[in-house]
Amino acid sequence: MWKASEHRFSVLGLARTGVAAANWLARHGFDVLASDPKPASELPLDKLHPAVKTAPGRNEVREGDVVIISPGIKPNTPAWNLAHEKGSQVLSDIDLFGRLCPCPIVAITGTDGKSTTTALTGELLRGAGYKTFVGGNIGLACMEGLDDLTSESVAVLEVSCFQLTHCPSFSPAVALVTNIAEDHVEYHGSMEAYIEAKQQIYANMGPGQRLVLNGDDPEIAKWRVPAGVEVRRFGWKKEYEVWADDQAVYVDGRRQHGHGELKLQGRHNVENIMAAVAAVEGRFATANRFLPALREFPGLEHRMEFVATVNGVSWYNDSKATNPHAATAVLTAFSERFWLLAGGYEKGSDFTEFGRLVAAKTLGAVLFGVTKQRIADTIPSGHPVHIVENLPQAVAKVAELARPGERVILAPACASFGEFKDFEHRGRVFKELVRHLAETRGA
Ligand code: ADP
Repeated sequence: MWKASEHRFSVLGLARTGVAAANWLARHGFDVLASDPKPASELPLDKLHPAVKTAPGRNEVREGDVVIISPGIKPNTPAWNLAHEKGSQVLSDIDLFGRLCPCPIVAITGTDGKSTTTALTGELLRGAGYKTFVGGNIGLACMEGLDDLTSESVAVLEVSCFQLTHCPSFSPAVALVTNIAEDHVEYHGSMEAYIEAKQQIYANMGPGQRLVLNGDDPEIAKWRVPAGVEVRRFGWKKEYEVWADDQAVYVDGRRQHGHGELKLQGRHNVENIMAAVAAVEGRFATANRFLPALREFPGLEHRMEFVATVNGVSWYNDSKATNPHAATAVLTAFSERFWLLAGGYEKGSDFTEFGRLVAAKTLGAVLFGVTKQRIADTIPSGHPVHIVENLPQAVAKVAELARPGERVILAPACASFGEFKDFEHRGRVFKELVRHLAETRGA
């Protein structure tokens, strides 16, 4: 392990993870230099421990330092190259945390469903009586939670593919992959590189450790798992350790709970529930200890979040559906057709399958943003499609179309960039628009 007398650290990038890592290292007596190309006025320098040396306005790495690299730094950019040229090792905050953490770690990655599965896993563990830290790519940066953990705790981390790119020694007690679909290819350069990053979550695992995998995912089915790792698969076939049908979830052949008993709804959420259960059950607790927490879990904001009923129409916010795969999950979540609001910033996604499903599952679509026409072109002709400029116009349009008893769901299938700061901003604006509608037109 590192010693303050022998090891120095250069932290590249002063966003949330960098600040948390620099502060932890400085608090524990390490010599830390933190740099970021943004000017000092735009950096959270006041949040840094006084012992952290800073180099605002540039990227700086001292020769031979251990580098903690921000997940926002892309491959082959000057900062990335500098880290690899000068650093003795280049690590993400997750790898750093993994080396220092005194308790078991449950690490969760995948293309979609990470945050819901992470939050739910944390709730199941809390419900079962564990002192639980939930963080990483959700809520607090992992290094912010480290000092509160003991050997009795459990750390549940959402881990992004960007963080996994620099995780050479990471080896959690339980690793979980929700699913794999096309995403972030612009960062990694290819789908293969994206998949390779995701596979790093289990690359160092061995006997005594558990790997939870989506059994129905065709990409994951090809993966070769390290010898001795306990593999628990989940999905919609009876052959898996944790499986579901339209009624209930079953664990090792026994019915555990019916879908109707839970607050969390939708077919994709059944997959997230199976994943979380597969991570916790038998390794940390039996079902009777975590079932009350499972029943009460309401889900996360911006993920199939119920907003309001206005004139008999129910409005849902799934602003987090930032790619066609995530939005596809929304389209297949309910058996009844609903009105869809979709569109946004262009990420070069393939909407072909999405467009087919829009025709199969919706009453009609109102499309907005840069991608509106490209999405419209993938929807079979004859299906009701309305094209507008932006989200406010989309809400106004669908309010004219929807009849009492019907649902309206915002599931954009696109990034929010351009019209909004981020998906949370988009979701909040949507909720405001719906509330305004309720005030002005509600019965
Ligand atoms: P992530 O953290 O991976 O982005 P979230 O739990 O925040 O995952 O969900 C993101 C979006 O993905 C949501 O909008 C939801 O509709 C969709 N989604 C959630 N779970 C799944 C799943 N298991 N499979 C596919 N899509 C999902």
